[in-house]
Amino acid sequence: MGLLSKLAESVTPYAAGEQPRDRKYIKLNTNENPYPPSKMTAEILKAYDAADLRLYPDPESMSLRAVLSQLHGMSTQNIFVGNGSDEVLALAFKTFFDADSQPVVFPDVTYSFYPVFARSCGIRYREIPLNASFQVNVADYIGLNDCGGIVLANPNAPTSIAQPLSEIEETVESNPERVVIIDEAYIDFARTESAVKLIDKYRNLLVVRTFSKSYSLAGMRCGYAVGSAELIDGLTRMKDTFNSYPLDRLCQAVCAAAARDVDYYQTVTNAVVDTRDKMAEKLSNLGFSVLTSQANFLFVTHAKIRAEQLYLSLRERGILVRYFKKPRIENHLRITIGTPKEMNALIVVLKDLIGQLT
Ligand SMILES: *Cc1c(COP(=O)(O)O)cnc(C)c1O
Repeated sequence: MGLLSKLAESVTPYAAGEQPRDRKYIKLNTNENPYPPSKMTAEILKAYDAADLRLYPDPESMSLRAVLSQLHGMSTQNIFVGNGSDEVLALAFKTFFDADSQPVVFPDVTYSFYPVFARSCGIRYREIPLNASFQVNVADYIGLNDCGGIVLANPNAPTSIAQPLSEIEETVESNPERVVIIDEAYIDFARTESAVKLIDKYRNLLVVRTFSKSYSLAGMRCGYAVGSAELIDGLTRMKDTFNSYPLDRLCQAVCAAAARDVDYYQTVTNAVVDTRDKMAEKLSNLGFSVLTSQANFLFVTHAKIRAEQLYLSLRERGILVRYFKKPRIENHLRITIGTPKEMNALIVVLKDLIGQLT
């Protein structure tokens, strides 16, 4: 007789990109930022008085929320913070979607955490295929009467493609009775505008952000949501049934310092975007089709060599990229943008492999 609950027996966990311990790789598989976080974060850590850790953190993370509300020109009532945006998304599914209502709608292909989480809560979902160019067809999301909510990653992952703000607005406006979640994990790398500027206009819009990608703080585990006070209150109620203190003291202080260092992160983001655009061209020259990326990664397929073969050969040569063995995308690779030096190393190895394998 097993000791697990029926739920624990039946769930399928999300498979995160590997964090290898066996050897040192050039790591281009989980969309981490290749540059360090703001110097202000290191100063917080150096000056930190360990005696403070005796006390619980502020359960409402007020000082961090104050910095974020300033950054976005909103009130603290419009900001919810959590232990990574995965946690914020998980709480949002539980807060806004019902098990016995119409299915929640999101694209096929998108961030694979969404179906995992929906299943673990018994929330039904319906996936709408991207078009042949891997784009969201906005018409598929307009005025959906028969849905329990909508989740869109913008830019989308792992495709790297972004939708213009006007399409996001049409989606939110035409589904006023449903919560629309826009996951903006990669928005800082995009030319497209953030949906945060629509929050005042639509009570059903929730925008989710993370410190893991553009803030170089994946190891700190912090994400947040911006939305109407009504939605943020709901999230807070849900949080307090699960974990009242999701952000520890260090995390609150470090992320507040990072969020204040706007200039530094502008420089880092520009560097990643610049490397990305150069890399897209170099990969095209090597026979790859490269989707137009507005994120910190490229989604590519090669005309002659199978993606799985490339993934395995790169791995052997010490370079990790992400490969998804899934319908529609099983011949694509997702390559995180690293430093120019790491990208040059990748190009050298790819040239060699392509020479051998074709
Ligand atoms: C990386 C990622 C996240 C999760 O980020 P964390 O804040 O590290 O949990 C959420 N959504 C998408 C689309 C991502 O790619």
